[in-house]
Amino acid sequence: MRVELSEVGIMTDSKAMRRNAIVNGVSIGIPFIGTLIGLLSSGFSAPTSSTVFLFLLFFLFNLIGVSVGLHRYFSHHAFETSTWVRWLLGILSTWAMQGPIDRWVADHRRHHRFSDQPLDIHSPYWSRQNKITSGFMRFAHAHLLWMFVEWPTDTRLYAKDTISDPISRRCSRWYWPICATSFLVPAMLGYAMGGSDEAVRAFFWAGCLRIFLMHQFTWMVNSFGHMFGGKTEGSRDESRNMHWGVTLLFLGEGLHSYHHAHQRTAVNQPASLDPAGYLITFLETIHVVWKVQRF
Ligand SMILES: [Zn+2]
Ligand SMILES: [Zn+2]
Repeated sequence: MRVELSEVGIMTDSKAMRRNAIVNGVSIGIPFIGTLIGLLSSGFSAPTSSTVFLFLLFFLFNLIGVSVGLHRYFSHHAFETSTWVRWLLGILSTWAMQGPIDRWVADHRRHHRFSDQPLDIHSPYWSRQNKITSGFMRFAHAHLLWMFVEWPTDTRLYAKDTISDPISRRCSRWYWPICATSFLVPAMLGYAMGGSDEAVRAFFWAGCLRIFLMHQFTWMVNSFGHMFGGKTEGSRDESRNMHWGVTLLFLGEGLHSYHHAHQRTAVNQPASLDPAGYLITFLETIHVVWKVQRF
């Protein structure tokens, strides 16, 4: 069985599992613990207009990083763009603190390959080839537990292009330093806007809490996005289109069943629920991106 698993890019050795769990644990733990510390101290003191501005701005950066960067560009090559935009997307992607780009891409492509089948890495229905029967465990596995219990994905098989691309390779290699700037940049901007008090508020609100919330947003697509909602004709799995409000908030990523049916498209349908699709179309009209895939 092990040979078969390695042939489809699934790593069962304990070293790979440990390394994966540590990267996931630290990536999740830092913003979570930071949020707790902020709640127990005066870190979340009443936000000023500067704090709200920085929170919304960096949350938008995260949304774009995950939806346009990690998902549509790096995982699915839904469009092409210039070197400087690829750098920008690489940094915004990494700022979401969801693991290095090559790992995210590899896990996501494996998810599509085995969608809701036993080797899917974050299906609500399977865990290490065992069927999940409890409703709560389905949610818990697809939302969070998979990052600690599933066999890791071999990036050499699933993300060859991302590893050989100098920009995403560097962003993956410099993952932790870039993650550090995801906290430091809002704090520095806060300092510039309102001194040390604003820097502390920006660190907790626009740093820790923003990343913590973005984690939940992304994982909701993995969990709820395979459990509740309508299906698009042509999707051959349990992927679902989420509530329109959630879909809009997550820049169109909630149209998950549509995405499973048309994986390479840069614009989900209905387009009116896909702000990321609008952004890509706008960037196309000003020639910042090109070769935009549509179905
Ligand atoms: Zn999915
Ligand atoms: Zn996808």
